[in-house]
Amino acid sequence: MKLQILKCKKCDTFTLEKTCPKCNEKAENPKPAKYSETDKLSKYRNLARKSN
Ligand SMILES: [Zn+2]
Repeated sequence: MKLQILKCKKCDTFTLEKTCPKCNEKAENPKPAKYSETDKLSKYRNLARKSN
């Protein structure tokens, strides 16, 4: 099992913990999978925003 460096989306702090040591936000993989569910959802969200 290798260490996974995660990044806080809120303050851009890199951490090995699952939560940010600075602001306690959830830290995420800075290189998400290209076709993750969240990516699809955010694309639809952007499209919805544009059509508004
Ligand atoms: Zn943070």
